[in-house]
Amino acid sequence: MNKALRKAVIAGNWKMNKNRQEAKALIAEMLPLVKDADCGVVICVPYTNLETALEATKGSNVKVGAENCHWATSGAFTGEISADMLAEMGVEYVVLGHSERRQYFGETDGTVNKRLHAALTAGLKPILCVGELLNEREGGITEEVVGMQTKLALAGVTKEQLANIIIAYEPVWAIGTGKTATAEQANEVNHYIRTVVEKLYDKETADAMTIQYGGSMNAGNAEELTAQPDVDGGLIGGASLKAADFAKIIEAASK
Ligand code: PEP
Repeated sequence: MNKALRKAVIAGNWKMNKNRQEAKALIAEMLPLVKDADCGVVICVPYTNLETALEATKGSNVKVGAENCHWATSGAFTGEISADMLAEMGVEYVVLGHSERRQYFGETDGTVNKRLHAALTAGLKPILCVGELLNEREGGITEEVVGMQTKLALAGVTKEQLANIIIAYEPVWAIGTGKTATAEQANEVNHYIRTVVEKLYDKETADAMTIQYGGSMNAGNAEELTAQPDVDGGLIGGASLKAADFAKIIEAASK
């Protein structure tokens, strides 16, 4: 697997953290630390911080993403935000299918697919999250689960559109738990996802696809994880809330 064929991207997922003042301070601390990154850098922030993040990152190498979007362009969906609304603001990325959305907000593979199409149509770059639960790993069905999530999310997506999608493999048992998949486990599943993409599209497309690992990636383990042949950067939760830690992860992924 030739890593030179694709770009590593480190994306922070702030989840429901940071008010506007705190967001501004975190970005100001982070920018000088990550300015020489040799990988893509994205921060996915709460809706209320998007304007602040867009303003604060203007002219820098840091891109801004949202943490979800609705599938309709507009309408009677109280409390929701459309992909078009995000694109109009200048937002570039959007996290879709995060396990916390699946677990707490009834997100299904079907709704992930609808959101993905809406995001692509609006010109956003989705970061599509897939990953197995602990009992699914213990039951030996990790590949079945991750393969199914990937195939259902990508239903109807063209090869051209796929170039704008990042997949993040996030074992649910490793998110926010401090338990990280071993580098071998992460690489094994990332490689499997690449074979699924190859079967759906072709080898060239699969080789060019950025497939991240996410799940308690931190300053201490990022180098080993991102050095794996099929791990193209990471989706970072907790450690993206500390500028120095996030910068260290970016440094590791830039090697
Ligand atoms: C995430 O929220 O996508 C994530 C990987 O969280 P953490 O790094 O905190 O496990």
